[in-house]
Amino acid sequence: MRILLTNDDGIMAPGILAMRRALAEMGDVTVVAPTTPQSAIGHAITLTVPIRIHRVTLGDGAVGYGVEGRPADCVKLAVLELMPERPELVVSGVNLGANVGINVLYSGTVAAAVEAAFYGIPAVAASVADADAVDFDGAARLVRGLVRQFLAKRGEQATLLNINVPDLSRGLPRGVRVVPQSLKGWREAWERRDDPRGRSYYWLIGDVETEDAGITSDVAALADGYVTVTPLKFDLTDHGRLDEVRGWDFSLDGV
Ligand code: MN
Repeated sequence: MRILLTNDDGIMAPGILAMRRALAEMGDVTVVAPTTPQSAIGHAITLTVPIRIHRVTLGDGAVGYGVEGRPADCVKLAVLELMPERPELVVSGVNLGANVGINVLYSGTVAAAVEAAFYGIPAVAASVADADAVDFDGAARLVRGLVRQFLAKRGEQATLLNINVPDLSRGLPRGVRVVPQSLKGWREAWERRDDPRGRSYYWLIGDVETEDAGITSDVAALADGYVTVTPLKFDLTDHGRLDEVRGWDFSLDGV
């Protein structure tokens, strides 16, 4: 099987190395990932500066393509230019830090998987909760097991999964939950400091808000110690409101 592996933490991140080792059991893994960290870059693409590509030797001696661009650039380049044949699977991760709740929208990890889904390629975004000592290899093996099940069972519609693995230092996950994305945002704040020249600057701090008791969501299930699986779509149209908004009878009057 031809597998494209990418991420948003950068090609030298430990998570992508663990994922490459785990996926090597499933087929030929081509690594195409940003040369520098691109977390929270979302679905940005590069249009105004040239994109250079470097051959990069990973920690285990394998060679990958380091791209001076965004995660979505990596998928476009891999599919259209770098891989002689289109990949049959795209995995993005393993990202350091959960991509649940509103983070799904900010995430470059998820955006790379969405980009693959644009091409009709089965795609998985994989992340592990941040912790003192993150077990990337354990998380990557868990993700590989779910990817195998996904490939065996997927229909034509379910081509894009967002997978999150809890902190494995707390013990084995309690199981796998298929859950919707939480609508919780960030409990956020700006920290203002002064730089050495006396000018102030700002740094965004905070974390994803916790979910209320009894709510079923990716945020809640992950905090409960479950591996979460969320099928994603990228049609942003609010289909349930199309008729209502059509009823507003917009016209060119007053333009
Ligand atoms: Mn990241």
